[in-house]
Amino acid sequence: MSDTIFSKIIKREIPADILYEDDDVLAFRDVSPKAPTHFLVIPKLAIPTINDIQPDQAALIGKLVLTAQQLAKQEGIAEQGYRLVMNCNEDGGQTVFHIHLHVLGGRGLRWPPG
Ligand code: AMP
Repeated sequence: MSDTIFSKIIKREIPADILYEDDDVLAFRDVSPKAPTHFLVIPKLAIPTINDIQPDQAALIGKLVLTAQQLAKQEGIAEQGYRLVMNCNEDGGQTVFHIHLHVLGGRGLRWPPG
């Protein structure tokens, strides 16, 4: 599987502002934030896109959401609200091919997105 910038963050080959880590997931602030609070939750397993997720990885994908939920509380955006986004391929706006959950909050977010 090809190395992405996120694999390099997992291996500490490039720096990141890490919020949480365990054996399965890593969360860090987005380097180019689109909202006052914007962080990413990724699996350590390098799954390129949503299309590549396998049924036996359902618990891992659920853990991304539960980690986002905990960190949203920790970051103080849970009560006011926030958005979880996972982009897929070109039309979805995916640029890094290692799945990641965006957690965006700290301001009112437009809906529908552009
Ligand atoms: P996506 O467009 O959904 O693939 O999102 C990729 C996200 O990764 C973008 O929001 C980028 O700003 C973010 N990003 C890219 N490189 C880094 C990095 N080195 N550290 C933190 N976030 C990054």
